[in-house]
Amino acid sequence: MATPGGPRPGNFPPNYSTNTLANNMQNLQINQQQSNNPRGDAPRPPHAAPPGQQPQPFGGNRPRAPPPGVFPRGPVPTNGASQTTLPWNPASTLTSPSSVFQPPPSFIMRTPPPVALASSAGGPVPPPPGAAPLTGPGTRPQPFISAPLTSVPPVLPQMSTSGPSNNGPTAFSSWPSQGGPHFPPAMAGTPQPPAGPPQLPTLMTSGPSAQPLQMRPYFRSPAGASPVTGQPAPPFSAPTQSMHQPSGSPHGMQAWPPQPGQVAPHPPVPGPMQQQRMYGMLPAPPPLPNQSMSLSHTGQSKIDPNQIPRPIRSSSVIIHETRQGNQSSPPPPATSDYIVKDTGNCSPRHMRCTINQIPCTVDVLSTSSMQLALLVQPLALPHPSEEPIQVVDFGENGPVRCSRCKGYINPFMKFIDQGRRFICNLCGFTDETPSDYHCNLGPDGRRRDADERPELCRGTVEFVATKEYMVREPMPAVFFFLIDVSMSAIQTGATAAACSAINQVIDDLPEGPRTMVGIATFDSSIHFYNLKRALQQPLMLIVPDVQDVYTPLQSDIIVHLSECRQHLELLLESIPTMFQNNRTTDSAFGAAIKAAFLAMKSSGGKLLVFQSVLSSIGIGSLSAREAEGRSNKTAGEKEAQKLLQPVDKTLKTMAIEFAEYQVCVDLFITTQTYVDIASISVVTRTTGGQVYYYYPFSALSDPAKLYNDLRWNVTRPQGFEAVMRVRCSQGIQVQEYFGNFCKRIPTDVDLPAIDCNKTIMVTLKHDDKLQEGSECAFQCALLYTTVYGQRRIRVSTLSLPCTTMLSNLFRSADLDTQFACVLKQVASEIPSAPLTQVREQATNVCINILHSYRKFCATASSSGQLILPEALKLLPLYTLALLKSIGLRADGRVDDRSFWINYVSPLSTPLAIPLVYPRMITIHDLDEKDLDDSPIPSPVPLSSEDISDEGIYLLENGEDCLIYVGNSASPDILQQLFGISSIEEIPNQYVLQQYDNPLSKKLNDVVNEIRRQRCSYLRLKLCRKGDPSGMMFFSYMVEDKTPSGLSYVEFLVHIHRQIQSKMA
Ligand SMILES: [Zn+2]
Repeated sequence: MATPGGPRPGNFPPNYSTNTLANNMQNLQINQQQSNNPRGDAPRPPHAAPPGQQPQPFGGNRPRAPPPGVFPRGPVPTNGASQTTLPWNPASTLTSPSSVFQPPPSFIMRTPPPVALASSAGGPVPPPPGAAPLTGPGTRPQPFISAPLTSVPPVLPQMSTSGPSNNGPTAFSSWPSQGGPHFPPAMAGTPQPPAGPPQLPTLMTSGPSAQPLQMRPYFRSPAGASPVTGQPAPPFSAPTQSMHQPSGSPHGMQAWPPQPGQVAPHPPVPGPMQQQRMYGMLPAPPPLPNQSMSLSHTGQSKIDPNQIPRPIRSSSVIIHETRQGNQSSPPPPATSDYIVKDTGNCSPRHMRCTINQIPCTVDVLSTSSMQLALLVQPLALPHPSEEPIQVVDFGENGPVRCSRCKGYINPFMKFIDQGRRFICNLCGFTDETPSDYHCNLGPDGRRRDADERPELCRGTVEFVATKEYMVREPMPAVFFFLIDVSMSAIQTGATAAACSAINQVIDDLPEGPRTMVGIATFDSSIHFYNLKRALQQPLMLIVPDVQDVYTPLQSDIIVHLSECRQHLELLLESIPTMFQNNRTTDSAFGAAIKAAFLAMKSSGGKLLVFQSVLSSIGIGSLSAREAEGRSNKTAGEKEAQKLLQPVDKTLKTMAIEFAEYQVCVDLFITTQTYVDIASISVVTRTTGGQVYYYYPFSALSDPAKLYNDLRWNVTRPQGFEAVMRVRCSQGIQVQEYFGNFCKRIPTDVDLPAIDCNKTIMVTLKHDDKLQEGSECAFQCALLYTTVYGQRRIRVSTLSLPCTTMLSNLFRSADLDTQFACVLKQVASEIPSAPLTQVREQATNVCINILHSYRKFCATASSSGQLILPEALKLLPLYTLALLKSIGLRADGRVDDRSFWINYVSPLSTPLAIPLVYPRMITIHDLDEKDLDDSPIPSPVPLSSEDISDEGIYLLENGEDCLIYVGNSASPDILQQLFGISSIEEIPNQYVLQQYDNPLSKKLNDVVNEIRRQRCSYLRLKLCRKGDPSGMMFFSYMVEDKTPSGLSYVEFLVHIHRQIQSKMA
């Protein structure tokens, strides 16, 4: 028996051991391909073994005949982008003044949505506000009763037990309304460039600071600081060796060198005790060592585009101890490669704050114009070299908690009175120590057992949940696959690709008796399959009523994987053939997910939907709103953002019910047309799911990505029936949560499923003053069920120093986190506000922060200088990139923008940056580069000035990967990389091949490394100048001047001018 509270070494959460993780990543089949024909002139079967690649992981994966109806598609622009690029022109004349500034209207400070609670008899009862937190996700759902068939199905199943359907409690609408206030029509959607006589900004090394000008230190280790590890730790690739503390392990006994100041080559942020002066009492703030550059309008020379701030990534791995000398260490940039040693604070992978010191008062915070928010990713993937999270079992009593705020025991709770009592670091309440948890204090005032108990010395631990945390037995791992078999889905190869992908991942589903599966197909009706019957042919059960759906059987639709594996494989192989002559064009998508939900209602689980056409009949059916919006131009302008809102509340209401019964929906959209992502994505958002988007679906190049996406979806670390709450120290409280979840009470978010990729933004607000010199703690508690049926509470605690010094806030600002928060807020605003307004808000966030810094921290500077705080010097560049992103461009397809908004919602911090500011590298010279650590060379600025006609470039944003081939690229290199002899032969649909030459091998290494870093297979596309693919590529050159956007240099001038006007 484990002693109460004692660690259980070796008993790590089964789905979180780094072994499992690394294996998952290694087996991701990141280079799986389905074609050995590089030119794509004849498709191979979507899942035939790739030539010369990694071994196929599945013994049962046989090459199959091509699915019926698969054909190569002609050229289709994958993006409606029509932007063209203009030459870099930093000295171009600026026009059109915009001198009036207003604070961003309610952009940052939002009030929580009103909450209504409702429950109907028999349904889950949400806990009332103020009830004990984390008490489980609702009562056991009432078993449903099936509805009678309203017409006789062609293949009649056993219907004897079917009765009327009960869809459960009526959902309510506590969800923040997507239909926000309506605003005046958007104008042209173009930014207003600054006015006045053209002035040539000059980059100067002057300034009040004696610091040498640091142009590109952001992502680089400080000069002189040697890499802290002798060898690179390839992210997520080393499976087992790192488990056992090899010599050089970051978790050995050796002392590690001090944490380098990752933000800038300056001394570490001083602790609160070292700052004696009070904010507001300084007659003139002294020069700060954290200003990086100045732009002067008085100089003669132009800004050298090579001298303006751009991200520089260090290839060396940073070792990050979360606390040193009992002080919090500022985390490395989220986008850097680092290994965390949890020495009391949680890993920044689990929780990051926008500022690494907490302002004592709301006044200090608002003066800074920065936002206080957390990004939490409770199940984030660790680095393979990091110590696994320990599981702590307190036995029947459960984990020790504060009796007032219910905060969990953590390293910052202070034991007093010989250890008999402890003071909660969250609410300040003093509690009695449970008698079986008592321990004497040492001379340092700490418990003598503090270093042996993970919950007293680690920022993240996982507690075994007791019965108190369950309202039913932990749910099984249920995977229900729902496949579109309408005519378009069949003919484009989407159905075949989905069936093949599912068939291949069956072996990857979590093993064990608790794993259950089900499958259904749909077009204008819904077809369930009895997987249990020992039949040669799977039995199909048709549900033709798509208005009042039901599930035709109470059992045998979702069965244990071990009981149906053969049937399932047979069925998946048969489905494309069974429907090959299907002429049904309609889709009952809404009815199908509802029917699948009814089948899953008693257990909960994951519903994985493969959809190819717009939902056209039955409940939740939709119309092609996009066309309407376009045909009526005036209305389109006025109501443009309306197309980004759900058309009505039908799907939302359904989704809330799904969430109550712990059903999470993931959507794999394999389409050629508009499917109204704005409407259907509420289902994934509300249930903790995710949208995957393959547009236009290519039967040649997309099945590999579909398979890998699905595989990662089911194999990544994840949990079910989860509830999450963040608690804060007195003085700070949670304002609002953003992400993919359902919220029934203000304090908690309900997550039918959560996985390692899902991130939730938590905005914070002051409700009192904090004491200078004290610390403010944040604690995220996630109660969830593992895929193996264990109920666990993962608790991450982050304690940060409080400060009254504005300069400390700027010095400890976390750019990546701040920008990710801006991105998420912008994305959530887009559907409810005119585009021009959202763009202005985003710009104002940047201006206001830099203005505050200028006004209060750099007063000695000349007004002709643009002063950027070192920690935030990339904020203008990222803001500019955001203004040019798919979400904020006026010219994008509606579904592309809706997908972008949805993609952003649960996005992690490390992926938020490349989404907006992609990484671009040159690949034509890969074999000439001598790269020590990473196969990925240093990035190139996103400027067409850096694109040469001879070059070949790879650009990736974590989701898409564009390879641009210059018109004068060497035929020899084209042959080596792509097996073609001229750019005229560039295929429209591209599948990465590995040829027998070093350059091709290096390209494959680069792509595989990016896939590993991003946990994403990437959608590859070859681009060339002069066609839509080239325009799409150049639309990512965010530093360029475009018809609708400023160049980077112009944008800096614009920002500077706005700051000057605010100063005046
Ligand atoms: Zn408390």
